[in-house]
Amino acid sequence: MAKQFVDTTIVAIATPIGNGGVGIIRISGGRAIEIVSKCFSNSQIIELEPRMATYGKFETPHFTDRVIAIYYPAPNSFTGEDVIEIHAHGGLFLLQKIVEHLVSLGATQATAGEFSRRAFLNGKMTLDQAEAIIETISAESEAHLAATGKIYQGKLRKKLFELEENLISCMARITASLDYPEHDTEADTVDSVDCCLRSTKAELKSLIDTAYEGRIITGGIQIAVLGKPNVGKSSLFNSILCRDRSIVTNAAGTTTDTISEPILYKGMKLVFNDTAGIRCGRFVMPGLDVSDITIKEEIPTYEFRIKDVRDDISEVELIGIERTKKVVADADVVLAIFDGSTPPDDEDEEILKLTKGKETIFVLNKYDLMKNNKSEHYKKFFDKKAYVIKTSALTGENVEKIKEHVYTLTTEQIMLGKTPASSDIVITNTRHLQELNNAYSSISGALTALKIMTLDCIMIDVENALNSVGNITGTRATEAIVDEIFSRFCIGK
Ligand code: GDP
Repeated sequence: MAKQFVDTTIVAIATPIGNGGVGIIRISGGRAIEIVSKCFSNSQIIELEPRMATYGKFETPHFTDRVIAIYYPAPNSFTGEDVIEIHAHGGLFLLQKIVEHLVSLGATQATAGEFSRRAFLNGKMTLDQAEAIIETISAESEAHLAATGKIYQGKLRKKLFELEENLISCMARITASLDYPEHDTEADTVDSVDCCLRSTKAELKSLIDTAYEGRIITGGIQIAVLGKPNVGKSSLFNSILCRDRSIVTNAAGTTTDTISEPILYKGMKLVFNDTAGIRCGRFVMPGLDVSDITIKEEIPTYEFRIKDVRDDISEVELIGIERTKKVVADADVVLAIFDGSTPPDDEDEEILKLTKGKETIFVLNKYDLMKNNKSEHYKKFFDKKAYVIKTSALTGENVEKIKEHVYTLTTEQIMLGKTPASSDIVITNTRHLQELNNAYSSISGALTALKIMTLDCIMIDVENALNSVGNITGTRATEAIVDEIFSRFCIGK
């Protein structure tokens, strides 16, 4: 996008909206010094030393606050313009009044994301870097901070600039071949374009392949806690979280909805989803088992049939069962829990069926009640390769092992299998992923067309790929895209 010059000086509260010890107001633009100077009775502000804290009295017609001002001269500031930060006392009303006063002196109230937008327009950062700052602010795990940190450092930008260069050189070769056919044979150009597009496609693929890890980093590892009622799902869930989140009783069917709670483990977010216990086993209706129930607009298809034979299953519980199946389908890891103190029954068989095709950790709970701590009943129940942990939610025994195994299973097996080992960048932003996918399919189209069509026909696909890559960094983003992205930022950012 072409560089734009803006002559307004903008102001906004930069700290969270609320009361705190200190609140920061940021002012950016060519008139920042002039406007702020008018508020300091002793005019220390005129002598502001770049990047040094200056103490002063900020005066308005109605009140005076003692503040610290820091001046970041253009172009070495966040926005690339003259920026002054005023560190005042952190009352929201007070900060709003200071902003109002600065506006009365000629500043304009900044709109959402306007500081970052200016930083982008002044070439201080690319679009993906600006978005990485926002992600950094909302990050909830060390893994997420590490990923956004690398994008903010410019690692993604560097890679994308390389890809842009590749695509531009492809286009140049095609254009040269079309304009000066006497220089190179078409076959030579096709070969070199084919080679260039293939390597660009491979690079895009390895970036796209990091998106699974990106999803895990942003949303956390999703774990479905599954089991028939009363095996101790909620007790284990609470024990994992180290607090009483789910209700624990002897009565079956108390957890009718899914309860999701995250914990941090070794810098990674693990999201445990305590599901409704599934208790409509095969005995409910001959020939009908839980896996027969399908999701249709939240109402289970077989609801009326199950209810006809099982009065003790409420409608709410049935919907809970449906949700459970969805949570299992969406989960990265299933934690299938069984009561180790009693032999497995038909309902446990149904649970086992639901775990088919899913990465599963099997838990034999109520270890404290197992006679001589043996679990003979379950010897033949699990597959030989199944990973089984014996726990007691009551005493907390081996609960830590669950977290540890979820973590290693996800990071060392699932994630490693899906993420290219060489990748240092992780795609965490869905907009970036969408653009990468668009570029990838445009290049796939160009490569197919290259086999059957003339060179000029693939130009449009290569250009589309270039635009998609450029949309991520912003080099080719339209004003509408840029506006849309920055409007999602908060005011003061
Ligand atoms: P859920 O229906 O599967 O969520 O099971 P709950 O967590 O509500 O537990 C059902 C009953 O089993 C409660 O009375 C718990 O106190 C008890 N319980 C859960 N885990 C254990 C355990 O490890 N040992 C023993 N002895 N009792 C447990």
